[in-house]
Amino acid sequence: MTAAQGCYRLTVIALALTLGAPASGAGQDDPRRVILFIGDGVGVGYWTAAAFARDRLAVKQFPVVGLVDVRSSSGRVPDSAASATSYATGVETYNGAVGVGRDSTAVDTVLEVAAERDMATGLVATSRITHATPASFAAHVPNRQLEWEIARQMANHDVTVMLGGGRAAFDGQIRPDSVDLLVSIKERYTYVETPEELQALNMRNVKALFGLFAPSHLPAAPARVPTLPQMTEAALAVLDEDPDGFFLMVEASQPDWRGHGNEPLPAITAEMLDFDRAIGEAVEYQRDHPETLIVVVGDHETGGLALQYDSTGTLGAAYTTGSHTATMVPLFAKGPGAEQFGGILSNARVGELLMEAVRR
Ligand SMILES: [Zn+2]
Repeated sequence: MTAAQGCYRLTVIALALTLGAPASGAGQDDPRRVILFIGDGVGVGYWTAAAFARDRLAVKQFPVVGLVDVRSSSGRVPDSAASATSYATGVETYNGAVGVGRDSTAVDTVLEVAAERDMATGLVATSRITHATPASFAAHVPNRQLEWEIARQMANHDVTVMLGGGRAAFDGQIRPDSVDLLVSIKERYTYVETPEELQALNMRNVKALFGLFAPSHLPAAPARVPTLPQMTEAALAVLDEDPDGFFLMVEASQPDWRGHGNEPLPAITAEMLDFDRAIGEAVEYQRDHPETLIVVVGDHETGGLALQYDSTGTLGAAYTTGSHTATMVPLFAKGPGAEQFGGILSNARVGELLMEAVRR
């Protein structure tokens, strides 16, 4: 190779590196900040309900939209455990699996890979924090029903922030093994049980935060407190303090249950607006921290929800089933690397890309 050819090659390589650099003013030296939102059961019908209720949805600001093929190794219709595990690990697995592959052995999650890289980590949900979706990021069990064991693993995991319901699973008075997991949690975390206690915290003084706001699941929106946006804002305030960045998963757990119950449109809309406001908190955070990648997905669609006029000319919710469906679910992405999430991806491929985002 001549000197001129070598120089040309270097120029091409430099140009390629420049074009491949993250957009939005973020650089390679910036901390990795990755926020994943999972809407349980949230298919296109659910987002349509939200869009009809509010013109200025946070997800409308997302430049990248895709569709996720959510099938699991059990078949075309997944459950939350299989789909969340695929998002968490990049591995396709069976319905009921929590943080394990098809052979039931543990697989590292994106949260665990982030923690290995000294990043802060967080899980937020409106269900029990031991429920399938959040559990799939910080526990490894062959079956989602094993919530006593999931609680034990999550209590010992050192996730920086955990906010949701499910206090009973940690309580020694209630656990079948009588082990009071709350004792060690209170030693290592700032621990809260009410929305008032959460609001009163000065997050600058909080190194690690555990909030269990109900014995089991939190109430339905719009009556639910703390709201998903309040919990998301609190989580971001704590995680922001880590100079190495963070991985945060926020689940809107309850659109799925409204769908299973074939509930009327206002019940769907209430959950979706709570979800979208939580996404709005992340978008606001991203404005000050452009190196933040935000990805919004559903784990599967529930109910075969369609919006249609009834005999009186009122727009309402119509369902084809009380179960999950095989329908693809929408994805929204915003921030450095967001363009990779466009098109049609499997949930496991989304998991691989999230893994790359925390490893970059
Ligand atoms: Zn469900």
